[in-house]
Amino acid sequence: MSDAPKRHLSTRVIHAGQHPDAATGAVSTPIYQTSTFAFTDADQGAARFSGADPGCKYTRLGNPTVAALEACVADLEGGCGALGAATGMAAVNAVYLALLGSGAHVVATDALYGPSRLVLETEYSRYGVSATFVDTTDLARVEAAMRPGTRMLYVESPSNPTLAVTDLEGCARIARAHGALMVVDNTFASPLLQRPLELGADLVVHSLTKFINGHTDVVAGMIVARDPQLLARLRKVHQTLGGTMDPHQAWLVLRGVKTLALRLARAQANAQTIAAWLEADPRVSWVRYPGLASHPQHELASRQMAGPGAVLSFGVEGGFPAAKRFIESLRLATLAVSLGGVETLVEHPASMTHAGLPRAEREAAGIRDDLVRLAVGCEDERDLLADLDQALTVAQHVPQPVTAR
Ligand SMILES: *Cc1c(COP(=O)(O)O)cnc(C)c1O
Repeated sequence: MSDAPKRHLSTRVIHAGQHPDAATGAVSTPIYQTSTFAFTDADQGAARFSGADPGCKYTRLGNPTVAALEACVADLEGGCGALGAATGMAAVNAVYLALLGSGAHVVATDALYGPSRLVLETEYSRYGVSATFVDTTDLARVEAAMRPGTRMLYVESPSNPTLAVTDLEGCARIARAHGALMVVDNTFASPLLQRPLELGADLVVHSLTKFINGHTDVVAGMIVARDPQLLARLRKVHQTLGGTMDPHQAWLVLRGVKTLALRLARAQANAQTIAAWLEADPRVSWVRYPGLASHPQHELASRQMAGPGAVLSFGVEGGFPAAKRFIESLRLATLAVSLGGVETLVEHPASMTHAGLPRAEREAAGIRDDLVRLAVGCEDERDLLADLDQALTVAQHVPQPVTAR
């Protein structure tokens, strides 16, 4: 790292980790589409494997296109380095596998991304790992859940799809006091809105699939570490597990990340307008968005985040049947899971992304049956409002049963 003063994040998304190609001057980072790299002689091969020469060996162990993206995301998060992963879940699992073992205990946010919770409950439990899921917005509950064997505090903020905001600095203090590592899934905020490592977290995981790539055309993940020793441990496990990133995938995300600041600014402005509009509409029973004064952690979100993001959730008046009619009546917003792309997406967590959780656990985590999640994109807000308006009207129209004559 150079001593040059840090540029602003909206510049760094374009330039961090990315330099004209040394061999050709190519301004766009080339796609090094190769599985392996030739050595000039046996000594060079030996030096590369011993680590004395940091050059490339084999793409699972490192690739220049992937390295450019890793350097970019590490820079944005303020980490010492990063590891590209095939998907967000490959990143999450590399972290779990590297840091948990038989007898280890995890404390995690209850409203976690569905698979991040389910894999602990159904798979890691088979290897003697136990987990306690708590409402991490309440630090007293986090503290109460910590045990002598707690190795990891795993937090998602804002949470999906409840948009609950957790005090990351407070959680980092609790983790440190108990000798546990703190991991934050920063997918919903992106490093432009929230940098957990600066608040005391040890690791950040990302689904690059969402805001960082932003174009709904790639799945990918990333792990960012604050400390080089922890990064080295994770690298060893991740490279052996094999869920590493492909160079073409990395290049697509490099292309996407350059417009992250522009996309996020637009999507967030749209989300703020839509949230306020929904909140004032009698056809909507409730709205949850960190940018609204009615959000329970609005003040914390304003302090901890540079902006409230572009995802919101709300209830349609009339419960689940009305919510179903609503999402099926949208014409511009697309009925699909995922978020963070340029196109607005809508989904129903209770029947889709979080259907795998038992109803009681779902409701305890605040995922009500009437909850609709809106991942706001970059369209013109007038078109989005018109679409929501017409779909809400259809949702209120209760179909009359056909009476037999
Ligand atoms: C999508 C998502 C993941 C998983 O990422 P994939 O790229 O789909 O594997 C993890 N965490 C959060 C918060 C997500 O939204």
